[in-house]
Amino acid sequence: MPTSFATLNLPETQLTNLENLGYQHMTAIQAEALPHALQGADLIAQAKTGSGKTAVFGITLLAKLDPQNFVSQALVLCPTRELSTQVANEIRRLARYQANVKVVVLCGGQPLAPQAASLEHGAHVIVGTPGRINDHIGKRTIDLSHIHTLVLDEADRMLEMGFMEDIGKIISLTPKYRQTLLFSATYPDDIKRLSAQFQRTPVQVKADTLH
Ligand code: ADP
Ligand code: MG
Repeated sequence: MPTSFATLNLPETQLTNLENLGYQHMTAIQAEALPHALQGADLIAQAKTGSGKTAVFGITLLAKLDPQNFVSQALVLCPTRELSTQVANEIRRLARYQANVKVVVLCGGQPLAPQAASLEHGAHVIVGTPGRINDHIGKRTIDLSHIHTLVLDEADRMLEMGFMEDIGKIISLTPKYRQTLLFSATYPDDIKRLSAQFQRTPVQVKADTLH
């Protein structure tokens, strides 16, 4: 039985937005993960590509976001520029029920200065690669001290690409009391170690099917 988004404790305006996006029912991983994530739990979520994982963390981080507060409140780490751009665009669509949510992408291949300028006036959500976010840390152009939701998307790929050290440094600059959501297609030992290091009693969810 497909589950409706209406079973979740979301604002009516977000339910209408999801309808407008053509999201009629939750996918399997959304139905497994969202009830825990929306209660603030840390999460390890495993599901294949195309299963709607972006909406799990997008809906969760937006539910906690205060658009009136011009500080960075959510940080999403992705392995590549392409994925960062896709994720940012999906978050922007999911954010349409709220006015003035600013989502910025921080990836390599672009000059640092305009990115730094886009951070200056308060970017609510930052999406980017660990390498470039570390460059901004080095230049003191980024403030991670108000991050309440930290997302590690495609964590297995980020570790394969050698981002462990960058990820550790980034997380050390976020608040201790935060929600950490980890998404991975696989669950090898280094992902277990990553989780043990940076998460607090995570709920583990898995979906093998889309619906
Ligand atoms: P994943 O990160 O698991 O690979 P995505 O989050 O990129 O998957 O989602 C894949 C596609 O499914 C996107 O185009 C997204 O807009 C769409 N999608 C996500 N959730 C739903 C839903 N509940 N109903 C319909 N389409 C959805
Ligand atoms: Mg994804």
